[in-house]
Amino acid sequence: MPDIIQLLPDHVANQIAAGEVVQRPASVVKELLENAIDAEASNIKLIIKEAGKILIQVIDNGKGMSITDARLSFERHATSKIKKAEDLFNLHTKGFRGEALASIAAIAHVDLKTKQENQELGTYIKIEGSNLIFQENVSTLKGTSVAVKNLFYNIPARRNFLKSNSIETRHIINEFQRVALAHPTISFSFYHNESEVYNLTSGNLRQRIVSIFGKKTNEKLVPINEVTDVLEINGFITKPEFAKKKRDEQFFFVNDRFIKNAYLNHAVSSAFESLLSNGYFPTYFLYLTVPTKSIDINIHPTKTEIKFDDEKTLYAILRSTVKHSLGQYNVAPILDFDRSASFDTPYNYKDKKSETPKITVNHDFNPFKNEEQKSIQFPYKREKSQQWESLYTGIDLHKIEVEAETIPNLLFSDDKPNSKTYQVHKKYIVSSIKSGIVYINQHLAHQRILYEEFLENITVKEALSQQLLFPLEISFNKSDIELIREIKDDLQSVGFLFDKILEDSIVVNGIPVTIIESQITIIIEQLLEDIKNDIPNASFSQLDVMAKSLAKSLAIKTGTKLDLREQEEIVNKLFICKQPDLSPFGKTTFVTIDIDEIDKKFNN
Ligand code: ADP
Ligand code: MG
Repeated sequence: MPDIIQLLPDHVANQIAAGEVVQRPASVVKELLENAIDAEASNIKLIIKEAGKILIQVIDNGKGMSITDARLSFERHATSKIKKAEDLFNLHTKGFRGEALASIAAIAHVDLKTKQENQELGTYIKIEGSNLIFQENVSTLKGTSVAVKNLFYNIPARRNFLKSNSIETRHIINEFQRVALAHPTISFSFYHNESEVYNLTSGNLRQRIVSIFGKKTNEKLVPINEVTDVLEINGFITKPEFAKKKRDEQFFFVNDRFIKNAYLNHAVSSAFESLLSNGYFPTYFLYLTVPTKSIDINIHPTKTEIKFDDEKTLYAILRSTVKHSLGQYNVAPILDFDRSASFDTPYNYKDKKSETPKITVNHDFNPFKNEEQKSIQFPYKREKSQQWESLYTGIDLHKIEVEAETIPNLLFSDDKPNSKTYQVHKKYIVSSIKSGIVYINQHLAHQRILYEEFLENITVKEALSQQLLFPLEISFNKSDIELIREIKDDLQSVGFLFDKILEDSIVVNGIPVTIIESQITIIIEQLLEDIKNDIPNASFSQLDVMAKSLAKSLAIKTGTKLDLREQEEIVNKLFICKQPDLSPFGKTTFVTIDIDEIDKKFNN
């Protein structure tokens, strides 16, 4: 048999490595920004075009590269940052694997210009798909500029896999924020399609957080500082009353590197324990400094996960430190939602007038009791239903049609509409039916009703909207604003009306009739969170996620007392749904018990 094993050519190896390092434009942004930081730049500029699909350029004023280094930097495993394996346990740089530039150059067109302080002329290198096109001298400023064009031009499958511009931009903004938060003393600017997204001047951590997340963040921050033998913790948590329905404002940095760690996240969340109601997450910006030898960063190509020697101890210290800070800042043990948001703040802020909407979660909230709205609006227009049936993914429509027609008949033909309903344990609606008894789960049934209502509204574009007397301004971070812009039309079709979408806030002047004003912020936050977690590829599924999210947020909760009319309304509306037997998340909405079964119980 002939020998069959051969070494892969470099450009193939580089493309394979690129698959791990570069998943999307945001990965390139991260690698280039980190290289600029490792080069000790004090000023870093990020320029992208078309969500990074056309151009990603990072310009720094760091130490630059010599002529030879400039060429070598594109070789695989070429790094100035470590020399031997032991160095892996004494890392003070972001990079060390020496594969980012090689990987990027294998799958894009790259222009590098770089000059060191003492050099007269700099170096200009052009590489396309690992091939050197030219290398020449150039007059350029001190520092380095790397321009990455036409990412994945030679891997069409990867290019096609990229999401919409707004989704890719959101990922880029997230990476940018993480790097910028890790290095508040470095100035950063960020331009997308020639317009400025961020211009962050050098400052302290508080200033950096505020310049990224908006002025209103300032008064929410509670400082954390703790020095122990094993680690130092700095940064901020936010007061529990500002907790959000989303997790994406939770930042851990370990030795100035953004990391994801569910275990440490749990430590923080558990410190907030009784202070947050279900479904709310604390916002935090926590900076841990640990001895470099106590962590292993080299367990993941993108270095966002790291291994700690002694996670248990870190967990305990982190939890008690956060608890302590919460206590120190007098945060009441049980959240009092009626209390003014300005309570206990140790700071005096000039611009406190513009008050952020407070969280007012009322678990007994009952939409039926809403004064402005005597009953749930349910404008069914069956003749238009064809379109919205197509929104059911993966469901046999024919089957539903049959069920939808037959279930109400089967159940109620004799008794309805006179059949009486009862509420049991503020959870189930019970009614007598032809074949026996039906138990309806009020929360799940209402989810189904609202879900179909929203789907219908989204599709037929005739949602009812109530005008707000005073338009409400709600702050969001930039990546959420991007997302809101993207789904604005859909939001409008369910009844949200926007006066303005600004840089870091939106002004809402109309809301769906099923919502009360105090819920708006929470509902929109939950919606954004659900859409983000779903990462939809088609606008189609995004609509579905939206309808589900709204239904989940707005459905009457278990534990809500319903009067007779409300019970009947649920029953009636449930059984004109297309698929009454399941909640939008696939849970059973009602069960029936046959009279035979009941009879059997008596025949023992
Ligand atoms: P790593 O960062 O893991 O070392 P990279 O492929 O990202 O690997 O970069 C290779 C080398 O190129 C770096 O070690 C560094 O010496 C040099 N380099 C890359 N970007 C810059 C920059 N912006 N300024 C100065 N040197 C750079
Ligand atoms: Mg690097």
